Amino acid sequence: MTELLRDYSLQAAQVPLVAECVIDLEERAVLKERIRQGLGMLGATLVAHYYVDSDIQDLAEETGGLVSDSLEMARFGRDAAAATLIVSGVRFMGETAKILSPEKRVFMPTLQAECSLDIGCPPDEFAAFKAAHADRTVVVYANTSAQVKALSDWVVTSSCALEIVAHLQDQGEKVLWAPDKHLGRYIQEQTKADMILWSGACVVHEEFKAQALLDMKKVYPDAAVLVHPESPASVIEVADAVGSTSAIIRAAGELPNDTFIVATDRGIFHKLKQLNPTKRFIEAPTAGDGATCRSCAHCPWMAMNELRALDRVLRDEAYRRDNEILLDPELGRRAKRPLDRMLAFQTR
Ligand code: SF4
Repeated sequence: MTELLRDYSLQAAQVPLVAECVIDLEERAVLKERIRQGLGMLGATLVAHYYVDSDIQDLAEETGGLVSDSLEMARFGRDAAAATLIVSGVRFMGETAKILSPEKRVFMPTLQAECSLDIGCPPDEFAAFKAAHADRTVVVYANTSAQVKALSDWVVTSSCALEIVAHLQDQGEKVLWAPDKHLGRYIQEQTKADMILWSGACVVHEEFKAQALLDMKKVYPDAAVLVHPESPASVIEVADAVGSTSAIIRAAGELPNDTFIVATDRGIFHKLKQLNPTKRFIEAPTAGDGATCRSCAHCPWMAMNELRALDRVLRDEAYRRDNEILLDPELGRRAKRPLDRMLAFQTR
């Protein structure tokens, strides 16, 4: 296995602080009611990720939208009858919705919501990486720009990456993988596929630490450890279950344990507690001083999805225009092919 010379993990200075926007209960209730009305007036469907504000997750479900992982968000957005989608997550999720449904208008509470994996995989450098390994099948994680997707053969999410790479391995194909090095390494270990990895990382998952997790296990010896595979290998080794956000939620319901230590963004705790009200969920420990994400176990870009921003995008036309996903149609067509391949693989 070869690695790129440059490490594409972001440094602390490149990552915004998590915006802890405190809104009192009364204002939250007012905003939620206005958002319900705004969605109705625009005829829009709200599609939200498990990592965003818990009230936004609830609003998505209450109003006929969806809260889920990026794979199901993509599928739901494509199949939704609404001509307007409001995507609450990070920008690649809005772009994916637009790529799959170019005829729909797609807005986000803020287009500032990025992803360290996307930022750490610039299209021009990725094109050079691809050109240097022209004999390989290009598989990219959904957490990439439309330009990078357009350069790929397959797009995958953490829900289907293992299966798709195992399928390619069965076909005798060699894989060029980007951008998450930890997920790539995990898939390579599981499938034994011949993979060359880009060297990006998620600022949230990279901060989970194995030794601190082992120490926590001593305090909670009966707890099961649930880990997202964007985490480092040493953390994955401690896990009782490894998988996407949906797989983590499934495991929490199926495992007999009453207590779980969870190594993924803490936004997922809302759904975990909703579905398992008698079980206890504890955040896995992060790095402490010097951690890229300030040891918060919460994505600073997901945190930009605030109720006020969602309300504003529904009510304020100028703000809405500024936060619409617009894509060059030809780029969209090229980026759609590997996404369609992923969705078709899932329904085989
Ligand atoms: S949690 Fe990590 S992978 Fe997910 S959007 Fe944030 S930076 Fe990207």
